Amino acid sequence: MDTSVNKNLDTQEMHVALGDMPTDEFRKFGHQLVDWVADYLDTVEQKPVLPSIHPGDIIRSLPSLPPQTGEPMQQILADVDRIIMPGMTHWNHPRFHAYFNSSASGPGILGELLSAGLNANGMVWKSCPAVSELEEVTLGWLRQMLGLPKEYWGMILDTASTSTLHGIAAARESLTDLKTRERGMAGRSELPRLRVYLSDFAHSSVEKAVITLGFGMDGMRKVAVDEKFCMRPEALAEAIAQDRRDGMRPFCVVATVGTTSCTSIDPIPAIADICEREKIWLHVDAAYGGSAAIVPEMRWVLEGCDRADSFVVNPHKWMFVPVDLSVLYTRKPDIMRRAFSLVPEYLRTAHDDVVHNLMDYGVPLGRRFRALKLWFVLRYFGWDGLAARLREHLRIAQVFKHWVEADPDFEVLAPVHFGAVCFRAHPKGTDDEVVLNKLNEDLINAVNGSRETFLSHTKLGTRYTIRMVIGHLKTRESHAHQVWEQMQNELKKLLP
Ligand SMILES: *Cc1c(COP(=O)(O)O)cnc(C)c1O
Repeated sequence: MDTSVNKNLDTQEMHVALGDMPTDEFRKFGHQLVDWVADYLDTVEQKPVLPSIHPGDIIRSLPSLPPQTGEPMQQILADVDRIIMPGMTHWNHPRFHAYFNSSASGPGILGELLSAGLNANGMVWKSCPAVSELEEVTLGWLRQMLGLPKEYWGMILDTASTSTLHGIAAARESLTDLKTRERGMAGRSELPRLRVYLSDFAHSSVEKAVITLGFGMDGMRKVAVDEKFCMRPEALAEAIAQDRRDGMRPFCVVATVGTTSCTSIDPIPAIADICEREKIWLHVDAAYGGSAAIVPEMRWVLEGCDRADSFVVNPHKWMFVPVDLSVLYTRKPDIMRRAFSLVPEYLRTAHDDVVHNLMDYGVPLGRRFRALKLWFVLRYFGWDGLAARLREHLRIAQVFKHWVEADPDFEVLAPVHFGAVCFRAHPKGTDDEVVLNKLNEDLINAVNGSRETFLSHTKLGTRYTIRMVIGHLKTRESHAHQVWEQMQNELKKLLP
């Protein structure tokens, strides 16, 4: 055998060719990239929020063939500036007011960096004790900050959509007599139709979960809302009673604290009464609105949530944690575990009786060290610091609401409980709804067309509604005022 080949393998060059990026290079580009991000955060406000780009532009600027040989880091980073940045919608911009914004704070970004560096996988306690235990501790802190009861046990998932899927799966598992875990649902004529209840304003992720879990669209019943877009408890009780009479099996209600469309709050205490009486699982979706409860005077928004069976909140929405990080709490972790636990031999450990193995409570086996970024954010800002920042957003939203109310050409369309203001232009004398819808669509397009800000819309009833969401860490009243002035100016241009 020719050993000269092996000898060559031992040279420095081959180490470079086979191993990772050399430490010096990592350090150099690491520092450079941190500087880049720091400059970005410092100057993002001077950039347009929205890119000026056509579909396919980025794809066309990148090679269709994979890189055959390695490329220098400088070149890759240069392409970030040249190709990627022009395609960015700047979520981390203080005038990003669309959807529910998400801020990546300094400590959150550093937590994300550390978690990538450590690259631990917390599928079971043994696979990385720090992942499991830090998750337990941070979620215990968050639970206390939200004023939720001690029995609530939590785990981190990627998104609220996944959290809600788990909540509804546990609701199904709570119907022990049906044995759906063992026997499934297909081909069982004796199985009653199972029903989940939600309002028209529930997030689409609830419907996706219902579809995914095999209940079908017919397994879902929409409950009427009142004039403030909140689920009507009497309508819920009636729907349940009617379904029972029709031989169906009501098993889960999904109520929302802070609906995506207009941040309405379903009456949780009354809904919890019904769920307790009817022995139905209550899942509360507080993906956005839940965070507000860390502000002591906003605790009321979670009234009754201590009675929910499962509850989701997204720190990646309004708690300055970079995407993604959703938290699912449940007072019945044993049922969650019964729904999902499946332990192959290679994952059995000696500690299984004394620790939570997080893989037992949900679909994912692998688990990123997401708790690190939450831990950094909670510690760096502290409860008071986070509450002060949310309180300021709440204040700016009220100020914005007053500007809208004070202008005879505009009107507020939904109560403002959180950081979102739903409103529209409604100039005097223009009362045709079709005309108004077109006018408001033109208005939001004109405002977003400037790329100086980004707002999104919804429909409330038949009304085209503009949503202004204040929730970015760096948004000040002056930013909101710029948007408001722009809104007024664009309306003037659109009116005859
Ligand atoms: C944003 C939102 C969701 C979905 O959140 P993801 O984390 O993106 O899945 C669900 N429910 C409500 C009320 C939301 O606002």
